[in-house]
Amino acid sequence: LSSLTKADWQVKAQALEIKTGLFIDGCFVPSVDGNRFSTTNPVNGEVLAEMSKGSTRDIDLAVTSAQNAWRDGRWRHMPPRKRMAVLSRMADLVEANAAELAVLETLDMGKPISDVLNIDLPEVIVTLRYFAECIDKIEGTVTNTVKDALHFVLQEPLGVVGAISPWNYPMLMATWKFAPALAAGNCVVLKPAEQAPMSCLRLAELFVEAGGPTGVFNVVNGFGPEAGKALALHNDIAKITFTGSTAVGKLMQIYSGQSNLKRVSLECGGKSPQIFMPDLKDLDRAVDYAFAGIYDNAGQVCNAGSRLLVHKSLQEEFSARFEQRALAAYQPGEPLDPVTSMGPMVSSSQQQAVLEKIGRGISEGARLSFGGKAPEGLESGAYVAPTLLNSVTRDMSPAREEIFGPVASLITFDTEEEALEIANDSIYGLAASVWTQDVTTAHRMVKEIEAGVVWVNCFGDGDMTQPFGGYKQSGNARDKCFASLMSYTQSKSAWFSLE
Ligand code: NAD
Repeated sequence: LSSLTKADWQVKAQALEIKTGLFIDGCFVPSVDGNRFSTTNPVNGEVLAEMSKGSTRDIDLAVTSAQNAWRDGRWRHMPPRKRMAVLSRMADLVEANAAELAVLETLDMGKPISDVLNIDLPEVIVTLRYFAECIDKIEGTVTNTVKDALHFVLQEPLGVVGAISPWNYPMLMATWKFAPALAAGNCVVLKPAEQAPMSCLRLAELFVEAGGPTGVFNVVNGFGPEAGKALALHNDIAKITFTGSTAVGKLMQIYSGQSNLKRVSLECGGKSPQIFMPDLKDLDRAVDYAFAGIYDNAGQVCNAGSRLLVHKSLQEEFSARFEQRALAAYQPGEPLDPVTSMGPMVSSSQQQAVLEKIGRGISEGARLSFGGKAPEGLESGAYVAPTLLNSVTRDMSPAREEIFGPVASLITFDTEEEALEIANDSIYGLAASVWTQDVTTAHRMVKEIEAGVVWVNCFGDGDMTQPFGGYKQSGNARDKCFASLMSYTQSKSAWFSLE
C-alpha cells in the first residue's frame, strides 16, 4: 500500500461501500425508529453517509443480544485456543482489509492516510494479537492456607461490557477496549464516537468473519447523551469502559451510581508536560520529539505533549529550531495524499474551539510564534495550522486547559523544583517526558512527576506491555497491558473445607 498515490486513494474512496446500520446480533440493522445522522468529511464538510442513529431502544436490543450470548456461553465457554484463533484471524482480516479501513478512517476523521497505515492499523493489529495471545495466560491462584481447607481463586469474566470510545483514533481506542474485554471472555456493546463512526462497524463485522459468534460483539452508533447514556445507565451492563473527555468521564461515574453500580474504567483528558533540562544531550532530537508529541494527529491526542517546559538557558535556541523543524515536518494538507503529515480537525466545531482557545491564550498574554489560524488555501476545511504559543505562564488557559489541537505552549523554568511544580500543577496526569543526560535527575523526576506514563529522552514510545492511563483527572484505568485484560475479570474465592 505504501506505493499508492493520492489519485489511487481517491479512486478507492469513490468505490467505498459504507456500512450505515447498527451491528446487532451479527447483522446490520436500521435503528428501531429509523432515525439517521450525517457523518461528514472534515476536509470539505461533504456528507459521507447517513448513519443509523441508535437510541435507548437500540441499546436495549444490543444489550439483550449480548446478554443472550453471555448466558448461553457461546463465547466464554469456547475453548481458549479457539477464542485465541478468532482474535488472531480478526487481526489477519484487519491486515487484509487495511486499504478499506484506512480510507474509512481518513474520510471520516480527517487523519492522514499514512498515519492510519503506519500507526493506527499496525497498533490495532498488534492489540488484537497481544490480547489473543493472553487468553490462555489468565490464571487463578491457590493460596497457602490451613491444613484442613483448600482455597483457590478463579478469575472470571464480568458479563456484558459497554465500551464508549472517542473519535481521535476511532478504531484504535475502540480496540484498546473491546479486545481485552473479549479476550477475557466478556460480550461487548460498543458505542463509538458520532464524529467518526464508520470504521468500528467494519471491525465488528470482521470479528464475525473471523469466526466470532454473533451477538458477542455489537456496535450501536449514536450520540453520547442518547445512546451513550443509555448504555452507561443500563442495568445489564457489568462494566463501562470509557475513553473521552474528563467532563463526560465524570458523568459515567454518576450513571453507574444511578443504575447498578457497574464498574467504570476511565481514560480521559491530559495536558502533558515535556520537560527539557539544560543538560539534554541532543537538542535536534529533543525538538523533533517535542513537535511530534504535539502535532501528530493534529494534536488530537489525549497524551499530547502540549506543555513544553524548557529551561531558560535553552529557550531561544529551542524555539528557533522548533519553528524551523516543525514547520518543515508538519504542513496541513489533503489527508488522502500519502505525503500529508497533518490533516484537518475532526470537525469545524472542533476547529472553532481550538482557534478560540488560541485567541484566549493570546489575550491573556501568550505570544504567538507561528500558526494560530486556518492555513492559507485550506479555508474550506476544518484545518488549524501548527501553532506555538511562547511566553506562556502557568496561570494562563493554554497551560491549564486541554486544547486538543496542534497548539504547543512554551513555558520556561529555572530549576528542577520549579519544573516539577509546573508539571504537576494540573488537574491532569496522563503522561510526561523528561530530557536529561543525568541519570539521577531522571530518576528523581520520574518519581516526582504525577503522571501514569513518564518517558525519558523520548516521547510517545512504547509497546503493548506498557500500561497506558492517567493519574488524577486523566482517569482511573490502564489500557494495553496484561493488567488491562485482568480489569475485565473478577475474582471468585472458592473455599473448600477438607474436614
Ligand atoms: P467526549 O467525552 O466528548 O466523547 C467520548 C465518547 O463519549 C463519545 O462516544 C461520545 O458520544 C460519548 N458521550 C458524550 N457525552 C456522553 C454522555 N452524556 N453519556 C454517555 N456518553 C457520552 O470526548 P471526545 O471529544 O470524543 O474525545 C476527546 C477526549 O477524549 C479528549 O478529552 C481526550 O483527551 C480524550 N481521550 C483520552 C484518551 C486516553 O486514553 N486517556 C484517549 C483518547 C482520547
